[in-house]
Amino acid sequence: MVATWKSEDQGEVACENCGSRYRKTVTRFPMRDKDYFDCDTCGFRMDEWNSTECPSYAFLGAKNVGPQMQ
Ligand SMILES: [Zn+2]
Repeated sequence: MVATWKSEDQGEVACENCGSRYRKTVTRFPMRDKDYFDCDTCGFRMDEWNSTECPSYAFLGAKNVGPQMQ
């Protein structure tokens, strides 16, 4: 039997330290999970949790730079 856990797209988040952008998805698991996520780019601790709702982060790109970016 394949279990499908509910996951919820929470949109885009950015690293507070370097501005790298990630898409955050929160998945609800039947068991509590304790973990953390460090920014892939700079290693900044972006999130930690001890919960049945576990976020995951997909790298989208580097910081949006400058006013020339439309
Ligand atoms: Zn970062």
